[in-house]
Amino acid sequence: MSAAGRLIFHSQRSIATSVQRSCAEAYALNEKLFGRGPERVVVVIAHSVAEWRRACRYYSFPLAKALVLHDGTLVLKSRALTGYSISNYHKVIIHEMNHVFWCALFRGRRNVWDPIWLVEGLACLVARNHYLLPLSVLKARMRRGRKLPLPYRYTGKILRLASRRELELYYSYWAHFAAWLCQGRLARLVAFTRAFAHRPTRMGYHQSFERFFGMSEKTARRIFAE
Ligand SMILES: [Zn+2]
Repeated sequence: MSAAGRLIFHSQRSIATSVQRSCAEAYALNEKLFGRGPERVVVVIAHSVAEWRRACRYYSFPLAKALVLHDGTLVLKSRALTGYSISNYHKVIIHEMNHVFWCALFRGRRNVWDPIWLVEGLACLVARNHYLLPLSVLKARMRRGRKLPLPYRYTGKILRLASRRELELYYSYWAHFAAWLCQGRLARLVAFTRAFAHRPTRMGYHQSFERFFGMSEKTARRIFAE
């Protein structure tokens, strides 16, 4: 089945062809990376803040332009609501579709969204999100003593406390670290996650990390920061 055939849209208004095409492209791109994808992806488009809140149900994160629910539903603010350009909106869709695939492929683990740095780092790399800082800027900030977290757990705390600016800094760190770790071969990050998904514990994570990347996470962080 074509990528477009796997998408089911829910929207109170008609959906621009460009958005439908964007979603299909995002599906195809992620299918290539993961090797396979979910049979069906439900995409809810919210045209107002009230619709957004209703669609997000238990989840509330005002800064988000889109998010993926635990059942894999992709909730998107309409482009008008985000104020984004077509190009940046397209990147948001690719990023979120990456989460949809992650959720479908690694569902059944104790917490499907662990480790957060890898979940977000990978999505940012695939989407090439517009808010990512250039590596040189990130390194300069790190040299000024910014101690950035590489969290294993996806706790609401990290996202709730952060400002947009801080989120961009974190996401940039996670994306650049992930890219450096896999030397740009994103499929390697997927293979690592697949291995770790068999033993989805903190210990399983650290052991898989050493096996895949030839060093401990702590060492990798130190070398990357140099
Ligand atoms: Zn994300």
